[in-house]
Amino acid sequence: MNLQKTEKHQQQNFQPRPPVVVVLGHVDHGKSSILEAIKDLKITEKESGGITQHIGAYEIQSNNKKITFIDTPGHEAFSAMRSRGSKVADIAILVVAAEEGIKPQTKEAIYQAKLAGIPIIIAINKIDKPQADPEKIKTELSRHEIIVESRGGKIPSVNVSAKTGQGIPELLEMILLIAEMNNLQGDKNKQGQGVIIEAYLDNKRGPTATILLRDGVLRQGDIIGTATTFGKIKILEDFRGNFLKMAEPSQPVVLIGFEQAPQIGEKFKVYSDIISAQKYIEKKEKKTEKREVIVSDSRKKILNLILKADVSGTLEAIEGVLKNLPQEKVILRILKKEVGDINENDVKLAESSKAKILGFRVKVSPIALEMSDRKKIKIKTYEIIYELSQGVRDIMSKILSTEIVRKDLGKIKVLLIFRTEKNKQIVGGKVMQGLVNKGNKIEIMREDASIGKGRIIELQKNKKNINKAEKGQEIGILCKGDANIEQGDILVPYTEEEVKEEL
Ligand code: GDP
Repeated sequence: MNLQKTEKHQQQNFQPRPPVVVVLGHVDHGKSSILEAIKDLKITEKESGGITQHIGAYEIQSNNKKITFIDTPGHEAFSAMRSRGSKVADIAILVVAAEEGIKPQTKEAIYQAKLAGIPIIIAINKIDKPQADPEKIKTELSRHEIIVESRGGKIPSVNVSAKTGQGIPELLEMILLIAEMNNLQGDKNKQGQGVIIEAYLDNKRGPTATILLRDGVLRQGDIIGTATTFGKIKILEDFRGNFLKMAEPSQPVVLIGFEQAPQIGEKFKVYSDIISAQKYIEKKEKKTEKREVIVSDSRKKILNLILKADVSGTLEAIEGVLKNLPQEKVILRILKKEVGDINENDVKLAESSKAKILGFRVKVSPIALEMSDRKKIKIKTYEIIYELSQGVRDIMSKILSTEIVRKDLGKIKVLLIFRTEKNKQIVGGKVMQGLVNKGNKIEIMREDASIGKGRIIELQKNKKNINKAEKGQEIGILCKGDANIEQGDILVPYTEEEVKEEL
């Protein structure tokens, strides 16, 4: 009851907040250079006071509007955040070099941005180069379901040169336009919550973290906690190193006060007291332990390879190319690399170690051929390194199992418990976000931690059975599950879909 009362009386103060932008793309396509070009254009030496500290994120001002950039080139940090379930960016800029086109990491980045469910802006970079061919890039992009606006699609694309600065103002304008269309808002009366961008132990200042405030405000003296640590905020600084009394939604800040350095990608929030922050850690610890075991058991697969090539130089080149293939889910292990034709020893080793044999500009000896046919051992030979690398990619993709992907549909706040039986409950609640369907699976959340799962058997509104309810509606729910739902809990209805994993 108390909980409901306080929430009702709490005044909300929604205001537009700056967009948080992440820059993704293939290595060397110019991610860091674009970030630098934006910095050069928008943060003058005078403003920054000559301080060039690297904190992992920065803010700029364009047409009197702020934009926050996450300054971690590449998408490792972004993936770390995503795999921890924290939404960090509102918009992704996908950088593609105009003279190179789509590369493996470009595809990865498209996949990442789509999974995160955030709008994409294409930045076709290095437009100053004579070989630049943006139209060709757009055609290539369309093969990966990225149809840009000039081709009748919905995804904006801007031609830029990080070197000359051409197109950078247009890119910033586009970011602000997309932000406006997405109506990004933050509540300044809420207690702060967000994500850890960087963290380290400073010899003089102690555990130091760069955090990105996703919503609410942070003040000096606030108690904050993540899943692994907690503390009281001693110092807040903006990205230039200026002292701050208060940090606002979307603002990147350096924060000192954690007991230990938190982990990158972790979520944090403000707690009313130290004890609540500590309690949250205990709950989370149990959950993460379990999850990590699942990841290492079912996710990492190993592909053993035997490599044969015509000369030792190409063996090294091939090894280099293979190392660059994404190996988060399937690990490549080269058991043997040798110059010479594929022979029966290779087939024997392949049989005992369940390896695949790859040849580059070599032949297969007649005995090896006959033996491999009989034992059903795969041998593939190539003449072009790119094709070999694609061939290995294909094998890796085939190894990946189909994954069950969960899609959250909404949030229901439990207002009343009508009846509790053995593993069934009838509860009353309000759809706060999204929607819910009869039959949906649900996750039961208490103070942001999951306490169990269940399924919705029946939905009612005004005592009538319904199939679906939407945001704002008050409903009765008959659900089945192992956990005991209490007033104030949040039910998250979701569906599960089978999708083939990508590398
Ligand atoms: P990242 O790995 O994606 O961060 O790529 P970098 O920003 O490090 O850029 C890779 C290389 O491309 C560097 O040598 C840059 O100087 C160069 N580069 C980046 N942007 C441009 C551009 O617009 N034009 C030209 N000509 N070179 C660029």
